[in-house]
Amino acid sequence: MMRDKLGRFMRGRYGRDELNRVLLVSALVLCAVSLITRLSALSSLSVALAGMCLFRSLSRNTGARFREAQLYFKLKSDMIRFFGDTAEQLWVRRTHRIFTCPSCRQRCRVPKGKGRIRITCKRCGAQFIKKT
Ligand SMILES: [Zn+2]
Repeated sequence: MMRDKLGRFMRGRYGRDELNRVLLVSALVLCAVSLITRLSALSSLSVALAGMCLFRSLSRNTGARFREAQLYFKLKSDMIRFFGDTAEQLWVRRTHRIFTCPSCRQRCRVPKGKGRIRITCKRCGAQFIKKT
């Protein structure tokens, strides 16, 4: 049976994880893009990513592969947080201005279009005048 053979072959090897899936999908996407744009650099990168995916899934050093996966998950959550924060700030800036308190660096959010106003810092109580 093909499945048994594959099972025996894969025993003790790292196999599939989300990072490998991402590598494989990126490789396929880059491959398609390189076919359309005829950029040979992209196709080399696509082969490199596919190779990395194959290397990781056949690797017997499961500890190292697991640590790579942990690193990947950390980078992913950092990126999601970064883009989420940026999007939120852009959204807030449509209606508010953000000032930094001169004495404690706390960021204060003030509605836009109120002219020159005195802002009281919520954290340290310092007052400063800004144009909104
Ligand atoms: Zn303050």
